[in-house]
Amino acid sequence: MDEKGWRDVPIAGLIIEPGTARGYKTGEWRTHRPVWDPEKCINCFLCWIYCPDSAIQVKDGKVAGIDLEHCKGCGICAHECPSKVRAINMVLESEAEAEDGGKGNEETGGEANRGEADSDKADCGKAGCERGSVKW
Ligand code: SF4
Ligand code: SF4
Repeated sequence: MDEKGWRDVPIAGLIIEPGTARGYKTGEWRTHRPVWDPEKCINCFLCWIYCPDSAIQVKDGKVAGIDLEHCKGCGICAHECPSKVRAINMVLESEAEAEDGGKGNEETGGEANRGEADSDKADCGKAGCERGSVKW
């Protein structure tokens, strides 16, 4: 068998279209769900800054919910939420689903919270977001 050199190895990891991450419903991996309490939230945006999946949704300059189709349940948002506020709590996904019947967190916008990024209800708002929901 002929040995292959590095030039023969196919190039991997190329992203040839922008925005393709939206097509991967990474929320299916989640074992724990962040449950956001809008009554406690002070809109400091720490969760939005730290979320590695851009799953914190923003509308009109305020947190609007969590995109559960893309949230992987890492818990960083809950960890970063100020300890005096604690507006996000991580709960077992199975318990959260049993409680809401699989509809997502209605308090945070129901279907919008499930990541309908193409709807006009909410968006991640991060730099590069086509809607530019957040202005600093
Ligand atoms: S748990 Fe929080 S920080 Fe982690 S992906 Fe979900 S929303 Fe983002
Ligand atoms: S970190 Fe907590 S208080 Fe700050 S915006 Fe997020 S949920 Fe609200």
